[in-house]
Amino acid sequence: MQKGTKLYSILKLKCPRCQIGKLFNNPGFFVFSRILEMPDRCPNCQQDFIIEPGYYTAALWISYPIVLLVFIPLIILGFSLDSISCFFKFIYPLIILFSLMLQIPIMRIARAILLNMTIDYTSKR
Ligand SMILES: [Zn+2]
Repeated sequence: MQKGTKLYSILKLKCPRCQIGKLFNNPGFFVFSRILEMPDRCPNCQQDFIIEPGYYTAALWISYPIVLLVFIPLIILGFSLDSISCFFKFIYPLIILFSLMLQIPIMRIARAILLNMTIDYTSKR
């Protein structure tokens, strides 16, 4: 993945401005503690991560369509099955599994997308 693109910053959870500093104190997608704990500023370029009070509330509206992208295909697949018991045997466990597995990555990706919508990459300070 090429550095300098917004996709790089989002998928690597890096600062959108310098793409070196980490967005979260406990980095990675599958973490179980300090899930949304972010530094106040980028440790590398000092970009402010707390743009304004309540800024990350908007990340909820970004995570919602991501959730729809994951679960609507599963529900459509469920409708295509022959019976409701097939749905509960095969699709329902997948929905439960994805719900548990993807909650933290989706919350983090939504925050990274929101920051990338506000801040552009600059190669120099
Ligand atoms: Zn930075």
